[in-house]
Amino acid sequence: MKNLFKNLIIVLIAFLIISALFSVFSKSPTEPKKITITELAQQINEERVSKIAVEGQKVTITLTDNSQEETRKEDEAALSETLKNYGVEPQKIQKVQIETTEISGLKFWLINLLPFLLPILVIGFFLWFMFRQAQRGANQAFGFTRSLARMLKPEDNKGQRTTFKDVAGLEEAKEELKEVVEFLRTPDKFKSVGAKIPKGVLLIGPPGTGKTLLARAVSGEANVSFFHISGSEFVELFVGVGASRVRDTFAQAKKSAPAILFIDELDAIGRHRGAGLGGGHDEREQTLNQILVEMDGFEPGTQVIVISATNRPDILDPALLRPGRFDRRIILDLPDISDREKILKIHAIGKPIQKQVDFRQIAERTPGFSGADLANLMNEAAILAARKNKKEVSMNELIPSIEKVLLGPERKSHILSQDEKKIAAWHEAGHALVNASLPHTDSVRKVSIIARGRAAGYTLKLPTEDKHLRTKTEFAEELAVLMGGFTAEKLVFGEATTGAGNDLQQATDLAKKLVTRYGMSEKLGPRTFGEQEEMIFLGKEIVTEKDYSEKIAALIDQEIDKLIADAQKTAQNVLASKRSLLDKIANRLIEKETIEKEEFEKIIKEG
Ligand code: ADP
Ligand code: MG
Ligand code: ZN
Repeated sequence: MKNLFKNLIIVLIAFLIISALFSVFSKSPTEPKKITITELAQQINEERVSKIAVEGQKVTITLTDNSQEETRKEDEAALSETLKNYGVEPQKIQKVQIETTEISGLKFWLINLLPFLLPILVIGFFLWFMFRQAQRGANQAFGFTRSLARMLKPEDNKGQRTTFKDVAGLEEAKEELKEVVEFLRTPDKFKSVGAKIPKGVLLIGPPGTGKTLLARAVSGEANVSFFHISGSEFVELFVGVGASRVRDTFAQAKKSAPAILFIDELDAIGRHRGAGLGGGHDEREQTLNQILVEMDGFEPGTQVIVISATNRPDILDPALLRPGRFDRRIILDLPDISDREKILKIHAIGKPIQKQVDFRQIAERTPGFSGADLANLMNEAAILAARKNKKEVSMNELIPSIEKVLLGPERKSHILSQDEKKIAAWHEAGHALVNASLPHTDSVRKVSIIARGRAAGYTLKLPTEDKHLRTKTEFAEELAVLMGGFTAEKLVFGEATTGAGNDLQQATDLAKKLVTRYGMSEKLGPRTFGEQEEMIFLGKEIVTEKDYSEKIAALIDQEIDKLIADAQKTAQNVLASKRSLLDKIANRLIEKETIEKEEFEKIIKEG
C-alpha cells in the first residue's frame, strides 16, 4: 500500500516535469495573434504585410507596423500557391518578403513525436518501476534461503564472554566439551595417532539445565569461529527453504573452519521422519535430510564440529544418533544439591548478599529445580529486596522466592467468598493430613488457601533429598495425597467441587503411568503399553498407535480405576479416623490462611 502510494507520487512528478519541458519548448514568451489564411490573404491585398516566415506548418507574419501574427498552413502546399488560391494577386505576393526555413531537427521531432511518445514513456516508466520492485522482491525471496546463523568470531565479545567458569557443576559435560575444543585447536596431535575428530556432539537434558549456556561457554573458550542457530529457524512456511538454509549454514561454517556450529533446539527439525500428517512435516523431513547429508559430507579433516542441544532425545530421528553424526552424546541432569549451591553462588555474583545467607539451605529446599529455576530464584529475591527498599538480599527474600518460582506469584486479590474459603480450607487440610499420615511421603512445607498461579490453594511438599528412583508404595501414597482434597470435600460437605479437578487429572495421569510405563500393575505385569508415536497435526501433538488389544485396553482402564479407588479409600480412612484433626487444620487455615511447616507439625503432634 505504502509502495503504491510512493510510485504514484513519483509518476506524478515525472509527468509534471515532462509537461513543463514541453511547454517551454513549444511556447514563445510573447504570444502573437492567431489569424486565418483568409485574413492573411486580405492583409496582403491591403499591403499591410512586410514579411512572412515559414517554418514547417507555422507561418509567422510581420506586419508593416512591426506587430506579429501567426497562422498555419498545410504541409504539402507551398505558401504562395495557397495564397493564390485564396485570391491574392501575384504582384502583391512579390512585394512581401517570404522566408522559408527548414524546421529544426529537435523541434520537429518533439512536436511530431511527443504526443505519441509521451504515453509510451509514461507506460515504460511504470513498467520499469514495477519490474524493479518485483526484482527486489525476488532478491528477498532468494535471501530467504540464506542462513540465519549468527557468527561469533573469537575476537568478538572479549569483554564479557561466557566461559566454563560461568557454568556450575556439569563436570562430565565440561570435560567432554573441553576435549572437543582441543580437537579444534590442535588437530594434529590427534591425527598423528590416527584418531578421528568427532563430527557432532549432542547435549541432552531437561529444559533449563544449561545446554545453551554450555555451548556459549564453548564459544568463549574455543577461540574458533562459532555459529549459532536455532532449529526452529530452519523451519519455514515454504518447503525447501529449511534445506537450503542448512546448506548455506554449513557452507559458511566450512568457509571459516576451524569452526563450531551450534544448532539449538534440534528437536524442532530432527523429529522421526515418516511420522505425521500435513505439509509442514515434509519440510522438516527435507531439512533433516539435508543436515544428515551435510554431516556425512564433511570431507575427512574438515575442522567443523556440530554441537546440538535437545530436551527431547526420544523424538529425534535415529539416523541423527548414528555414529559419524552426533556420535558424542552428553547427558545433562538436573543439578544435585551441591551443584544447586554452586549455581546459586554463580548467580549471586553482582548482587549484594547479606553475610548470613546460607546457600546450602536454599539448595536443600530446592530439589528438582533446574539451573534456570535457580537463576530465576536469585533474580526474584533481588527484585523482592529492591521492592522492600533493602540494600542487601537476605534469607527473608530468598525463601519466599522459592515458592514464587515453584507456584507462581500469590494472588492476594483473588478473594474467596466465606463458603469458598471453607471448602478450600478443608480441601487443603485433606491433602496435608493424608500426606502427614502416610510414611513414605515428602514432608509438608506449607499449607495455604491463598490463590497462587491457577490454584485456589496449595499444599507445598518438598522432598528432603534428591530422589532418582521411586517405588510403587511411594506412588500409591502420592495418589492418596492427591485424592485427599476431593475426599475431604466429600466427607465434610457431602459433595466435591470443581476445585478438585486438577487433582483428579494429575491422579489419573499418574495412575496411567504406573500401569502403562512402569509395569507396576500386578495384573498386567512388567511391561509397557502403547508405542509412543508422535504426530503433528494442525499444531497439535497426537499420540497414537496402540500396541495392545482392546481387551488389554479395558484391563488398563480397570487397573487405573482400581489404583485411584484404592487411593481414595486410603484417604477416606485417614480423614474419617482423624476427623477432629482435619477440622482443626481447616479452622486454623480459615483463621490464618497460611500454615508453615513448624506450626503444621505442631498441630499434627498435638492431635
Ligand atoms: P537450556 O538447557 O534449556 O538451553 P539454558 O542454557 O538456556 O538452558 O539455561 C538457562 C539459564 O539457566 C542460563 O542462562 C543460566 O543463567 C542458568 N543455568 C542453567 N544451568 C546452569 C549452570 N549449570 N550454571 C549456571 N547457570 C545455569
Ligand atoms: Mg536452550
Ligand atoms: Zn487439591
